[in-house]
Amino acid sequence: MAYNFNAGPAALPLPVLEAVQAEFVNFKGTGMSIVELSHRGKDYEAVHNHAKSMLYKLLSIPDDYEVLFVQGGASLQFAMVPMNFLASGRTANYILTGSWSEKALKEAEKIGNTYIGGSSEDRNYSYIPSPDQIQIEPDHAYVHITSNNTIFGTQWHQFPDPNGVPLVADMSSDILSRPIDVSQFGLIYAGAQKNLGPAGVTVVIIRRDWMEAAADKNPIMLKYTTHANANSLYNTPPTFAIYLLGKVLDWADGLGGVEAVLAQNKAKAQLLYDAIDESDGFYQGHAEREARSMMNVTFTLADKELESKFLQEAKARGFVGVNGHRSVGGCRASIYNAVPMEACEALRDFMIEFRSRN
Ligand SMILES: *Cc1c(COP(=O)(O)O)cnc(C)c1O
Repeated sequence: MAYNFNAGPAALPLPVLEAVQAEFVNFKGTGMSIVELSHRGKDYEAVHNHAKSMLYKLLSIPDDYEVLFVQGGASLQFAMVPMNFLASGRTANYILTGSWSEKALKEAEKIGNTYIGGSSEDRNYSYIPSPDQIQIEPDHAYVHITSNNTIFGTQWHQFPDPNGVPLVADMSSDILSRPIDVSQFGLIYAGAQKNLGPAGVTVVIIRRDWMEAAADKNPIMLKYTTHANANSLYNTPPTFAIYLLGKVLDWADGLGGVEAVLAQNKAKAQLLYDAIDESDGFYQGHAEREARSMMNVTFTLADKELESKFLQEAKARGFVGVNGHRSVGGCRASIYNAVPMEACEALRDFMIEFRSRN
């Protein structure tokens, strides 16, 4: 197997892939594969409801929240959030911590008034703004954050106090990686393809009373209430993606739930950050220490030539996806939930060995 450090779509747990393979052609005695079942039939409905209930269980989602499965990726949520919650005359607050928050802001600017309540752009998004660098007015429509900055390798370790305003989080790259208090949020969204499953489904967790106060004028598919009122079966859902999501959630449950996943993620990240910190500056982490992400470890080498040698050799050794995002360069190891400890150990060993040779 490859050592898969891809940023997304990303590694999935091997036992999940094997289980999917084993039941693919004849799903639970139906004589059909999962992708051939009607989304209106009871076999698929059980799969659908199982994935949903596992999310409630693993993330301890309170009953007054809806869990929705929508399409269009996190990128459609950039637009759907302001379309539903940025009424005319009101202002939405965006805290900028990287490229994805910038993209979210851009969509909101098309819909209404926006305010940048904090930003770490001045140091190339290498940190997370501290509470005294954040400004939120009680009359803001909502506050939007990106909980983990996939490209820059930073992560909110303590969410901002939203001053009574609904907090909206793009958790695409760290959902299910650690326990969260869902009741802190008005809305959480996450494309599945980093920590939850394959591309094609986006999970939305939304507080019901806030959802019901949303704008009514939007096209049917772009209203959260449409999906909530139809158990996310208003139109044909991405059945295979939701099925696989359910399997990934079962896998996480089997590990011991999000607390166990967190312990594993901490240990994995520690291996790589130690290799950086103990390298006497040979490897330099992009993120400032307190802001380091447990999901995306970003670093550079002293010069471009050495860096491309490192990336070339890493590739030859079977490490996939270690090159940084095209917008920032450098190196990045994405170590989502399903990336095994052994892959991180192998990369750590390679980093140490490469350094000793160069
Ligand atoms: C990957 C990613 C996105 C984009 O997701 P799509 O599903 O491709 O639209 C948005 N936000 C974050 C934080 C991401 O990591």
